[in-house]
Amino acid sequence: MVVKQEAVAAKAVFDVVVVGSGAGGLVAAVRAADLGLSAIVIEKEHRYGGTSATSGGFVWIPNHGRPGNEGDTREAALTYLSRVCQGDFRQDRVEACVDRGPEMVRYLDEIGIALDVIPFPDYFRDEPGATDSRMIGARELDAKELGEQFFTMRETFPAFRLFNRYTLDLMQAFAFAQRPRGWQWVAAKMFARYWLDLGWRRLTWRDRRLALGAALIGRLRKAMLERDIPLWLDTKLTGLIERDGKIAGVCVARHGVAMTIEARHGVILAAGGFEQNQEMRDRYLPVRTDARWSQSPKGANMGEAIVAGESIGAATESMDCCWWAPSMQLPSREVANSDAVHQMWLDHKHPHSLCVNRLGLRFVNEGGAYDRFGLAMIEDQKRTGANIPCWMIFDATYRKLYTAGGILPSTVVPDRRIPRDWWDQYLYRAGSIEELAGKIDIDPATLAGTVARMNEFAHTGVDLDFGRGQSSYDKFFGDPRHGPNPCLGPLDKAPFYAIRVDLGDLGGKGGLKADAAGRVLDRANDRPIEGLYAIGNSSGAPWGNAYPGGGSTLGPATVFGFIAAGHIARRANMG
Ligand SMILES: Cc1cc2nc3c(=O)[nH]c(=O)nc-3n(C[C@H](O)[C@H](O)[C@H](O)COP(=O)(O)OP(=O)(O)OC[C@H]3O[C@@H](n4cnc5c(N)ncnc54)[C@H](O)[C@@H]3O)c2cc1C
Repeated sequence: MVVKQEAVAAKAVFDVVVVGSGAGGLVAAVRAADLGLSAIVIEKEHRYGGTSATSGGFVWIPNHGRPGNEGDTREAALTYLSRVCQGDFRQDRVEACVDRGPEMVRYLDEIGIALDVIPFPDYFRDEPGATDSRMIGARELDAKELGEQFFTMRETFPAFRLFNRYTLDLMQAFAFAQRPRGWQWVAAKMFARYWLDLGWRRLTWRDRRLALGAALIGRLRKAMLERDIPLWLDTKLTGLIERDGKIAGVCVARHGVAMTIEARHGVILAAGGFEQNQEMRDRYLPVRTDARWSQSPKGANMGEAIVAGESIGAATESMDCCWWAPSMQLPSREVANSDAVHQMWLDHKHPHSLCVNRLGLRFVNEGGAYDRFGLAMIEDQKRTGANIPCWMIFDATYRKLYTAGGILPSTVVPDRRIPRDWWDQYLYRAGSIEELAGKIDIDPATLAGTVARMNEFAHTGVDLDFGRGQSSYDKFFGDPRHGPNPCLGPLDKAPFYAIRVDLGDLGGKGGLKADAAGRVLDRANDRPIEGLYAIGNSSGAPWGNAYPGGGSTLGPATVFGFIAAGHIARRANMG
């Protein structure tokens, strides 16, 4: 027993300790190893990958140079970002992201992690410098390539699995949400591939096809295995070790037992934000929210790395921000007595729907990006006190054509197949708008007036109040079969429906204040704390309170992971 303890203690010295196994943390560890440093990743959960593994896995990198990104430039990116960044954004970090992002993409390509363009508009598509080619994602991966390590990877978000089983990529998700011609073939091929894979079916019901965030994390985990980089699961950061004016390691609880891990050259905090910590949410966020509305894994990102940094004098920034993504809660079909949180990503953009506050009034262009929807909820809550939660209202035509709060269209899942106890608890239904309003405590005449006005806009194709469907971003997500405006349709066919919309998020956006090299800055004098780095949602987002495009959270997380590893290596080589 004594010998075993010594062996563990002897091993617990590394050049770099990375705390957290999301995408940024894994890029940092792999890059550090390639620069000749010994690295370890510690992860508090029994599964690795964090929110990154559950996510879309898209990375927003301007001017990355992959096929499809021709014509993009540093200048265009900086012009765009100067128009859209707001709040506590810092120009040095914005420029570091723009300047070093392409280098990281080339590096990942060289080590076998090619990132391909997914044509997708920047979220402020009509601003100068915007493009449709900055969102890139990892190629699919066969889970077999990960061996046993597949089983300890966190699973994708339920919305990225059809019937909680079949892996969906982005195009397939669109196909099921919008059901263009031939969508049945997409489904048939998906089912056949899954069920004909007999050998794998005997092993697990989990799909062997890894796409989106699972492909990104899977490929990075594979790179770690190829480099023998240890990953310690069930190992939670509890504090930082300071020695001779620099950070020299971390205190952890490994399988619940306290121990220390020495870091010769640097500690990289990549442990996500504080979105799962209700007490920190209440302290920092501008309005009252609930940790259950967040779409990040339950109980994982509690802000422990941020607190550890603060306790040794680190500064923080953007703590009042989140990557807002409104969500809906429905009972889980898979797990008894548990709710499933559904990201309202496309739902509110489809025709034959609108969103109102509890006064029955629209407050936002529903066709805009999710982060802007969340910011509008906050503004409206401050103004009226009647927003969070708000409501999405739709009619029978919508119900037939599109998904709503994770419920498939009525042609696939008719109303009679919805569990009886969901009605008028989670999903509300009524024969008239006035009756529906009564069920959700909204003034019937006001809601009827709002719907009537929307129906006029649908007829003319012009939303005089919020301009829904005017911008090229809105149009991208509209229904091309629908005119004159692909985002506007009348709500005129009974029954009418309502689902509650909460102020959800994809993770925290505020964290430790870091410089352009990823070094954490001291609260007292704004100078770097030697040996301490923060990336991803453990650090303040470079864009301040903005969401420039799809992948704007994993973009800086991975780029600053790459930058931090390089910075540590340069310092280490200087002796
Ligand atoms: C459904 C969904 C889709 C999304 N799609 C995208 C997308 O396509 N593109 C994009 O840019 N963003 C997307 N996001 C947001 C994005 O996933 C997160 O912002 C991002 O993953 C955060 O990365 P991170 O490394 O900071 O945190 P995470 O990926 O959450 O990793 C942090 C890790 O640290 C661990 N940890 C926490 N505390 C400790 C501790 N004390 N000790 C040790 N380990 C600890 C956690 O368990 C976790 O594994 C999406 C989010 C969701 C929910």
